[in-house]
Amino acid sequence: MNHFNTILIANRGEIAVRVIKTAKDMGYETVAVFSEADREALHVSLADTAICIGESAVDKSYLNIDSIIAAAQQTNAQAIHPGYGFLSESAEFAKRCEESGLVFIGPTSHAIAVMGNKTVARHKMMDADVPLVPGYDGPSEDDRVLQKEADRIGYPVMVKAAAGGGGRGIRIVRESKKLIAEVESARAEALSSFGSSELLLEKCIEQARHIEIQVFADQAGNAVYLGERDCSMQRRNQKVIEEAPAPKMDEVLRQRMGEAAVKAAKAVNYVGAGTVEFLVAKDQSFYFLEMNTRLQVEHPVTELITGLDLVDWQLRVAAGEDLPLKQDEIQLKGHAIEVRLYAEDVESGFIPQTGLVRNWETPTGKGIRVDNGIVNGQMITPYYDSMLAKLISYGGTRDEAIRRLRRALKDTVLLGLSSNKPFLLGLLDDPTFAAGNATTRHIEEQYLPEKENQGGYSPMESMWAIAAILLSRTKGATGWRSTGILSWPVRLKFHGEQRDFVVSQDGDTYRVENDDIETQNVIILAEKGGQLSLQINGVHSGANVALDERQHIYIDNRSEVAMFERLSFSEKRDDEELGANLVAPMSGRIADVKVETGDTVNKGDLMVVLESMKMFQELTAQQTGVVSEVYVKVNQQVEVNVPLIDIITNEQGEHEKN
Ligand code: ADP
Ligand code: ADP
Ligand code: MG
Repeated sequence: MNHFNTILIANRGEIAVRVIKTAKDMGYETVAVFSEADREALHVSLADTAICIGESAVDKSYLNIDSIIAAAQQTNAQAIHPGYGFLSESAEFAKRCEESGLVFIGPTSHAIAVMGNKTVARHKMMDADVPLVPGYDGPSEDDRVLQKEADRIGYPVMVKAAAGGGGRGIRIVRESKKLIAEVESARAEALSSFGSSELLLEKCIEQARHIEIQVFADQAGNAVYLGERDCSMQRRNQKVIEEAPAPKMDEVLRQRMGEAAVKAAKAVNYVGAGTVEFLVAKDQSFYFLEMNTRLQVEHPVTELITGLDLVDWQLRVAAGEDLPLKQDEIQLKGHAIEVRLYAEDVESGFIPQTGLVRNWETPTGKGIRVDNGIVNGQMITPYYDSMLAKLISYGGTRDEAIRRLRRALKDTVLLGLSSNKPFLLGLLDDPTFAAGNATTRHIEEQYLPEKENQGGYSPMESMWAIAAILLSRTKGATGWRSTGILSWPVRLKFHGEQRDFVVSQDGDTYRVENDDIETQNVIILAEKGGQLSLQINGVHSGANVALDERQHIYIDNRSEVAMFERLSFSEKRDDEELGANLVAPMSGRIADVKVETGDTVNKGDLMVVLESMKMFQELTAQQTGVVSEVYVKVNQQVEVNVPLIDIITNEQGEHEKN
C-alpha cells in the first residue's frame, strides 16, 4: 500500500482541472503547479495550494523535473499525477519520483521507457505476439538503409519519430525519390521536439481507422480493457473527434482487440491507465501502432459509456487497491463523442492561434460535458498546446450523441481568437462521418485548406449586417439625414474581402444595404455584455460579439464565427496584394533562419521556420527577389505580424534603378 493524502498535479489546462476535480471528490488535498504565464489560470485557482515552478517556456516550468520535485517536497505532496503530454511519458521523471519517495500516478519508469520508444515497443510487441504494421525497426539510421527498406516495404510509407507523440515527426512518403527529403525533415522535427532523431518506417495502411483500446491494470497484476474509441477523425495525424464505441464495431472484434491490448499491457507489467492504439484495415485486420502510458485526452468518452471515473481508478491503483471491476463486470452503454476545441486558423492549414479570450461561454444541458481550463480574459500564449477545451456528448444512440454535440457546440462561445468551432460543426454534419465511415485521412482528403480557399468562404449576409451596425456605432458615425432617416456609409473587411454598405436607422430598425446582398433589416432587441438578442428580417435570433482594442469585431451567430474590421473610405481598397516581405503569421520562436542578406530567393524557397504551440511552420518566399534585411535570429521569440525578412523583388529593384 502506498499511502498519500496530497497530490501534486504536474500539468496545466483542462487536464489539470479534470484531475483536481476527482482528487478533491475523493478527499485528497491538491497542489497545482504553474508557470509565470499561467498565474491566473483556472487550475491554479481550483487547487488547494498552488506553486510557481518557473518561467513560461515549458523547459523552464512544466518540463523542469527538478522544479516539480522540489515543489512536491515543499508542499508535502506524496504523489504526483502527470496528466498527459509534458512529463507524463518521461521515464526519467517517473524514475526521479520513485527515487524521491513520491508516488508517480502511472506505470513504472521501465514500462514507460519500453513503450515510449516506438521501435523498442515494436520489438516487445513482436515477442508478445501482438500484430504489427509491416515496417523497418532495425538499428540503422543510415539514409541508404532507410531507402532500401522503404523500397522493400512499398509505398506509401510512413516515416515516424521513434520517440514521437501528438502526431509530430510523422511524414507520409508516396514515392521512392521523395524519401530522403522527408527523412531529413522528420529527423529535424524529431530532434527538436523529442530530443532524439531516431526514426522508424512503417507501411502506410490506407483506408484505415484509428481504433484504440483503454486498458487498466493494478499492482496485483490484474488487467482489463474498457472498450474502444474510434479516433479516425484527424488532422495532421492528430485527433479532432473521438467516439466510443467505434461505429460498426462488433463484439468479436472488440474482444480480439481488447485481449491483444491486455496482452500488450501485461508484456510490460503495466500498472494504471493506458491506451493501446491500433490501425484497423478495411478487412478488419488490426495492427499495433503504439501504447500511450498515461491518461488519454479522449478518456471522457470511455467514462461516459462505462459510467466510470478513470482518474478515480488511477488514484485507487496508485494507492495499491485492486481494480474495482473484473472484465465481465464492465458494461458499455450508449454512445459518447468528443470534439477538441483548438485555437487555430483552419483556413490557413490549422495554424495555432494566440490571443486574448474575450468571451468564453460553455454549454449546458442533458448529456453534455465540458472539460476546459480557460477563463474569460485569459491570454492564450504561444508556449503551450493549442487545445483549449473538449466538448463531450452522451446519447442513447450515436445519432442522439451527434445531435446533442452539435447543439452544445453552437452554444459554445469563444471570441477573441480563431478557433476550429465552425469547422467542427461542419465535421459533425459530414455525411461520411455521419455514416460512421471516416478513415484517418478523411479530413485531409475532404477539407484540404486549398479547397476551402477556392470556395472563398464569406460569412452569412446577416453577419455582415451585424458588423456594419456595431462597427459604425463605435466609430462615431458621421451620417446624413434625408426624409427624417439617418444613414451613413460603412466599409467592412473580412479577410481579403471588402464590402461597402449603407446603414440607415428608422426608429429602432437598422437597414443595411449593399449592392450584392439582400437588404437586412435588423432590430437589436436586447444587449447584455457581449450577448445580443436580435430580430433580422423578422426572425429572432442571438449573437455573441466582442470588440478588441483595434476596433475589430468578433461575431458568433452560433453556426459561424467571423472577425470584421472597419476601413475608412480614405484608405485605398487594398485587394490583398501579396507583399514580398515576410512577417510572422503567428507569435512564436524562430526555430531556423535559412537565408542571409544578399541571398537570391525564388518564390517558394524556405526562409524561416517558426515554432509555436509545438508546431513547426515553414515560411517560404512569396516572390522572387533578393534578401535585403534579416530581422531575426534563431531562438528569438517574436510577436505576430513583426517583420522577419525583407525582400527586394526584381520589379522593385528596377524601380529604384530608374
Ligand atoms: P492522445 O494520444 O491522448 O489523444 P495526443 O497525442 O493527440 O493525445 O495529444 C496529447 C498532446 O497534448 C501531447 O502531445 C501534449 O503535447 C499535449 N498536451 C499536453 N498537456 C496539455 C494540456 N494541458 N492541454 C492540452 N494539451 C496538452
Ligand atoms: P503519435 O505518437 O504521434 O500519436 P502514432 O503512431 O500514434 O503517433 O500515429 C498517429 C497517427 O498517424 C495515427 O492515428 C494514424 O492516423 C497515422 N498513422 C501512423 N502510422 C500509420 C501507418 N503505418 N499507416 C497509416 N497511418 C498511420
Ligand atoms: Mg498515437
